[in-house]
Amino acid sequence: MRNPAYDILFQPMQIGPLTAKNRFYQVPHCNGGGYRDPTAVAAMRGIKAEGGWGVIFTEQTEMHHTSEITPFIEQRLWDDADIPALRRMSEAMKTRGALAGIQLAYSGINGPNLYTKEVPLAPTALPIRTFTNDPVQARALDKTDIRDLRRWFVNAAKRSKLAGFDLICLYGAHGFGIFQHFLSRATNQRTDEYGGSLENRSRFVNEVIADMRDAVGDTMGITLRVSLDEHIGTLGFSNAELRDFIEMNADLPDLWDLAHGTWEDCSGPSRFKDEAAQETLVTGIRELSSKPVVGVGRFTSPDVMARLVRQGVLDFIGCARPSIADPFLPKKIEEGRIEDIRECIGCNICITGDMTMSISRCTQNPTFMEEWRKGWHPEKMNPKGESSNVLVVGSGPAGLEAARALSLRGYDVALAEAGTALGGRVARERLLPGLSAWGRVVDYRQYQLSQRANVETYFDSRLSAADVLEFGFENICLATGSHWRADGVARQHVTAVSADPAMPVYTPDDIMAGKRPTGEVVLFDDDHYYMGGVIAELLAKEGCKVTLITPCAYVSDWTRNTLEQGAIHRRLVDAGVTIRLNTGLASVAAEGVETVDVYTDARARLGCDAVVMVTSRVSDNALYRDLMARRDDWADAGIRSVKVIGDAAAPAPIAWATYAGHRYARELDMPDIGDALPFRREVTALA
Ligand code: ADP
Ligand code: SF4
Repeated sequence: MRNPAYDILFQPMQIGPLTAKNRFYQVPHCNGGGYRDPTAVAAMRGIKAEGGWGVIFTEQTEMHHTSEITPFIEQRLWDDADIPALRRMSEAMKTRGALAGIQLAYSGINGPNLYTKEVPLAPTALPIRTFTNDPVQARALDKTDIRDLRRWFVNAAKRSKLAGFDLICLYGAHGFGIFQHFLSRATNQRTDEYGGSLENRSRFVNEVIADMRDAVGDTMGITLRVSLDEHIGTLGFSNAELRDFIEMNADLPDLWDLAHGTWEDCSGPSRFKDEAAQETLVTGIRELSSKPVVGVGRFTSPDVMARLVRQGVLDFIGCARPSIADPFLPKKIEEGRIEDIRECIGCNICITGDMTMSISRCTQNPTFMEEWRKGWHPEKMNPKGESSNVLVVGSGPAGLEAARALSLRGYDVALAEAGTALGGRVARERLLPGLSAWGRVVDYRQYQLSQRANVETYFDSRLSAADVLEFGFENICLATGSHWRADGVARQHVTAVSADPAMPVYTPDDIMAGKRPTGEVVLFDDDHYYMGGVIAELLAKEGCKVTLITPCAYVSDWTRNTLEQGAIHRRLVDAGVTIRLNTGLASVAAEGVETVDVYTDARARLGCDAVVMVTSRVSDNALYRDLMARRDDWADAGIRSVKVIGDAAAPAPIAWATYAGHRYARELDMPDIGDALPFRREVTALA
């Protein structure tokens, strides 16, 4: 069973009038579903309860209609009508003895109120600070507004209690909650008793917590989520000032919830931030107060968790992403199943669900947000159907996840891989700068497969249609992946770019295979996710003089959704890469390229020794096409089904591939649902 070194993580701990059963604390996290998908979110939180978390929180909950963050989809507690959906969530959280928490947010200077059309209110009249620079400003709260806002917090607290929650987290971190807006001199430039000195800037949070204690404090715990450091120079709420604040207000909340300055800082991807990246900012804070402290740091190692509690740095291990990648993390530690932990890879794909207002995915846990929509459980598969075996061709993320999940269902699985290692694209990409943690996609599955008697892996096995027809498997799952194209086709060009064959052209596959340009390199990025930036960084560090051109206004544009675009741009500048935005590729000549300004069509020559095309990929689906062409031979070969999945069906990020593999495994031998919707959804009832 459990390693005694981890016992400390299972000691109960008090939060105000309540006791958490252990130290595993799921801090609030978005999921892209929010108020639009209440039952899907409730079921997701319920899975965390099953997985053993001691404290489970909602995502941020807009506590009054005068402050909302449309288009982002979080929770709402605007009036009593929102209580039933939230009660469904608290009930799911409490099924196994976890404390259920709600995070109340008044977004102040972050709330553009695009939906409610109310005038935003903030400590000081300034432009609204959002990802989208909405052209809206806030009005400064006057004394009457502050009294109203205090009452709205009390109303929200009472409603939270009616909705069944045990804990309330007041949001004042990541730049997102009104408490931080009052605490920081950047957003609080008042000259009355709410501004100026730290004592004055602390007045509002003191008043709100006192009001709330009177209203619900006998039965509910009140926690405060504050920024560890805004990192914006002397005007901001710094780590030193935070320590002064906590010393001055030592008994203010029932628990200090400490999170980094901006969301980008706090949820730093593994490319830029290690596990426990906030340790120095948080160390020593616990001694300033008698109240427990929770902190985050993409914790996946129980050794690191136990050390932080043992050393008195933290009382609770706060997790958002690690709890998404593996909702059963506490249970696996408790049962001594450390090897079974599905570690977060720090890719921030989960966050893109929120940023794109879709619904979240997780690269490691394809069941995330599908617990209710599809009835998928992260640890249990549906029973086996009527056939008995599957040949999975290709061991990239799609094939690996299909093989893992199929074997759990009870199928005999043969996994054939053309190469000599498992992992497909991940085996190659994990060697690129900053992407080593992504290898966990392979490591987790490789270990799981090694524990299953019903999976056989075959290397050096590039299969042809004739091979597949000869083998006699009932089901064929083709996960043969894709390769990068060299002809420049993507978004700017839908047909091949005119290119002089005298100019050497490389693709990311060439670079990953060890081929290298030298001298001056033009990298054309019309893919816009991480690959262009990663290859530019690699080549620049190896001594090439790299110019990255992209038709977009941002380098690695889509990574704005993974919260790393700023860090990528900074890193490329540091590495000496020249960045040319809003610049397309017109043609490739023998001595260089011709560029084109996307707005003016102005052309320019840019000399170089080599070109790297990071544009788009082509599916490696020849085997699939050959098998489809020989459909008439299937019956004799004993084949019941042939399906193509993952990048071989249509190239996409790794998370799409693990999802495709999981879905294949779930749906094999399932009844045909015809034209029906393949997932459940909630449709708003008409008023
Ligand atoms: P995905 O992201 O969809 O999982 P990858 O490109 O990561 O796809 O992985 C595809 C894997 O399939 C690669 O490791 C490749 O070597 C393997 N593969 C491709 N074609 C064949 C084939 N005909 N037989 C066996 N393995 C193949
Ligand atoms: Fe971690 Fe990536 Fe999953 Fe998010 S999507 S929880 S960062 S593995």
